[in-house]
Amino acid sequence: MFHSTIRQIVNEAYKKRNICSLNDLSLETLSRRFMIDLDYSYSQTSSLQIGHYKLISLDKRIPSHYQRWDFFHELGHILLHNIDQKKALKGVSFFMELQAYRFALHASMPYFLIKKFCEITPYTLSYVFNIPIFFAERRMDQIKAHITIKGGKII
Ligand SMILES: [Zn+2]
Repeated sequence: MFHSTIRQIVNEAYKKRNICSLNDLSLETLSRRFMIDLDYSYSQTSSLQIGHYKLISLDKRIPSHYQRWDFFHELGHILLHNIDQKKALKGVSFFMELQAYRFALHASMPYFLIKKFCEITPYTLSYVFNIPIFFAERRMDQIKAHITIKGGKII
C-alpha cells in the first residue's frame, strides 16, 4: 500500500463530493461537484479564484485529453493553493507547479479506480482516463514504485 499527502487530499476531496466512478470524472460533473465554473476559450488554460467564486478556463484549441490534463492541474491549484501564483516568489511558484502536477497525476487517474482494472499499462490508463500517454506513463511509474504488478495485474 502507498500513502502520500496528495493522494489523501484527492481521496478526501472525491469522497466528500461522492466522486466514485469513471462517469463522475467527466469535466462537467467534476466542475459541478466542486462548484467551479467551466469555460472554454481561445486562450491558454487558466484558473481564477475570487472569494468563493472559482473558474477554470480551458484552451479550446487543444485536444480533449490535454484539456482534461489541464483541468486537473488547475483543480490542484484551486484546492491546494490560496495565494496568487503570479505574486508568489519564484521558488514558491515552482513548488506550487510541482504540487499541481502531482495532484493532477492522482486526480486524473485515481487509484481507487485503477485497482479495479484487470490489466494496467500506460496505454490502458491513457485510454480509459483520456489523459496524454506521457502522464499515464508517469502515473504508471508512481504505481509501480509502490505496489507489485505481475503480468499487468496488481497483486
Ligand atoms: Zn500551474
